[in-house]
Amino acid sequence: MATMITEECINCGACEPECPNTAIYQGGAEWEFEGAKHAALSADIFYIVPEKCTECVGFHDEEACAVVCPVDVCIPNPDIPETEAQLIERAKQLHPGTDFGTEFPSRFREDAGGGDAPAAAPAAAAPVAAAAPVAAASAGPALKLPAVETWEVPIDCHGCGGTYSVLFQHVRSGNVLRCPFCKGAYTVNTSLHNQISKMLRGFHTRWTTDFEAMRVRRQREMDEFEARQKRELEDINEKLRTISKTVNPAGGPKKRAWIFG
Ligand code: SF4
Ligand code: SF4
Repeated sequence: MATMITEECINCGACEPECPNTAIYQGGAEWEFEGAKHAALSADIFYIVPEKCTECVGFHDEEACAVVCPVDVCIPNPDIPETEAQLIERAKQLHPGTDFGTEFPSRFREDAGGGDAPAAAPAAAAPVAAAAPVAAASAGPALKLPAVETWEVPIDCHGCGGTYSVLFQHVRSGNVLRCPFCKGAYTVNTSLHNQISKMLRGFHTRWTTDFEAMRVRRQREMDEFEARQKRELEDINEKLRTISKTVNPAGGPKKRAWIFG
């Protein structure tokens, strides 16, 4: 079955960049195939083009869009049952330069008793608030900031007070977000977009600059420390050599005194 997105989609945009086949489009956006453009399949929520979806067969053990969807609305389309053989064939057509071999990842193989039988649709899960860790709490050299466009922006629903998150690239003026709890619509206006954009970009620049400065400082300190350690090591070795030169070893050759002076 091709994967589909149900009407409960909250337009967070998390699924779109995950699709290996660019089969997911924002509501209202035309979809493309082999250079040709086609009318959007949905006007206001994200949608999946069945002709481009392989249920991630050839790429992942499960549907990447379903994995990241915070409200579990990427589900198998019961109207389009397809076998693994059909889906890997589509993957080959979509990616003619790729050799998928015979051991390609597939949701069918992950399931017990896999094979070519279409899998059953999973039960719909209850909506949950998307965890939105905007930035890691601890600072350290390995810390990585997400790009501004993929930043998860927390949105407080005016209707029910619930909090959900949306990628910043979808917080665009005129875009309609939907609360996963009460289904209330939230239309992004220019003021909201500009405020968040200014805050995020300012923070991103400052944080990145500070982080880079810290990294350079740390590296310099580490270089100095290593040079000092190296000098101390050479020094101790030199001292050890000096000791061995000045102390006569037990049983070593001794100069004989001449008894007649
Ligand atoms: S199931 Fe995989 S291929 Fe299909 S739309 Fe989702 S991410 Fe894309
Ligand atoms: S709610 Fe789910 S289907 Fe809708 S845009 Fe977000 S990740 Fe995609």
